[in-house]
Parts: sequence; structure tokens; C-alpha cells
Amino acid sequence: AVEIEHLNKWYGRFHALRDINLTVAQGERIVICGPSGSGKSTLIRCVNGLEGFQEGRLAVDGIELTPASIAAVRRDVGMVFQHFNLFGHLTVLQNCTLAPIEVRKMDRRAAEDLARHYLTRVKIADHADKYPAQLSGGEQQRVAIARALCMSPRIMLFDEPTSALDPEAVKDVLDLIMALTVEEKMTMLCVTHEMGFARQVADRVIFMAGGEIVEINAPEAFFSAPQHARTKLFLSQIL
Ligand code: ATP
Ligand code: MG
Repeated sequence: AVEIEHLNKWYGRFHALRDINLTVAQGERIVICGPSGSGKSTLIRCVNGLEGFQEGRLAVDGIELTPASIAAVRRDVGMVFQHFNLFGHLTVLQNCTLAPIEVRKMDRRAAEDLARHYLTRVKIADHADKYPAQLSGGEQQRVAIARALCMSPRIMLFDEPTSALDPEAVKDVLDLIMALTVEEKMTMLCVTHEMGFARQVADRVIFMAGGEIVEINAPEAFFSAPQHARTKLFLSQIL
């Protein structure tokens, strides 16, 4: 579970997150949407300590996020980025075994078995010995998802995981995320503008604007009866 209370963040003098309050239950799936610059990435990056914040509190599975607890929190939180962020000098298999070996102190054989399990799950096992640059975007994103899963995270963060992909790959990756969040019973926070995905997968949809959570609701209500003018405008532009 993720608990966020009165979180405020500034970049210099720019107030990027304004009084964010959000509790995400274990196993809950949240989709976050909103205009460019509204603070979506900043918010999810705060959850695994990639960004610090100045006010408020944030706890992950009961662990209060502090400089001392960041490493422990990160072990529990997987993240998948828009641009995959694979290690270019490592093979697909090595990308997946690095953190389990270095961070979880797993032995190499066990880490490789686990990596092959997830690479098979994301249908990329045949490419285990290739380097990221030898794969398509969709394949790279599937590797990034497998790599995150190899750390057995209880929480997965996705930051626009399909916005750099072409249309067929978008569907592949969204279907995969959808299936995995069910199979692995993970808590998920996903920034995306794929509203079909939001409708199907999300327990709640959040709309952010200007660093605030403007609206949060179950998908049916969110799409059929948005409450705020800014939400209505946003939805009218993207649907
Ligand atoms: P997008 O949809 O374009 O990805 P976003 O909602 O994810 O946008 P953020 O990346 O969270 O937006 O950025 C929120 C605001 O904070 C933006 O105005 C951005 O310019 C600013 N910002 C983000 N990162 C930094 C940084 N490292 N230093 C200064 N300002 C930043
Ligand atoms: Mg962003």
C-alpha cells in the first residue's frame, strides 16, 4: 500500500506538487492522467524516492520514506519508464539479473532462472542474449517489465510505458501489463493517456492539473460524469 499525506514539492521556486493526499490499497490499480507538466511523473517518482519532497509524508507498505529508508523502499517498488532505460552494455538476461544479484544478493543461477521465467512470460526468452539496441521498442519495453518483475516488487510504477511505441506494440504492452497486474496481484500506479486501458484496468483514475489532484474516481464515474471543468476539457481533447 502507498500512503501520501499533504505532500508538497518544489523545484527551486516552482511548486510542482500541491498538497497531494492519496492512499492506494494493496492490489489496487490506479491510472494517472493529466496535461503535460501537471506533475504526474514527479508524483510517481516521489513514490520510489527518485525525487525528494519538502513537505508531507509518504509511506510504502508501512515504511516511512526517509533518506535512510530509500533503499528498502526501492526494493519493494518496480518502475518502468517511457524510454525503457535498459542498460545498453548488458544483454537482456544481464539486465534482468543485475539487481537481483547486486541488491537482493541472489546467486547467479537462481537469478538467471527467475529472469528466464519472466522473459518467457513477456514472450522475449528467445532474445535473452541480445543487447537492447538489437530489439524493437515494444520488445525493449517487455524486457523492462520483466526486469522490474525480477525484483518481486509489491508495487509497480509505470510512467507512460507505451507513449514511445508504435500502435501494435502499444496493444501488446498494455495487454501484458493488464494480465500481469492481475496475476501478480501487484499494486499499480500507471501514468498513461490510454483511456481504454484505464477503463478496463483501473480501480480509480486520477486527473492531475497544475500539480494538484483535481479529480479521483472509479473509471465509470470518471469517464461518464467528470466533476470538474478541467477534467471535462481534458477528456474532450483526448477521447
Ligand atoms: P508530461 O506529461 O509532459 O510527462 P508530467 O505531468 O509528467 O508531464 P512532470 O514531469 O512531473 O510533469 O513535471 C511537472 C512540472 O515540474 C513541469 O512544469 C516541469 O517543467 C517541472 N519539472 C520537472 N522536473 C523538473 C526538474 N528536474 N527541475 C525543474 N523543474 C522540473
Ligand atoms: Mg511525465
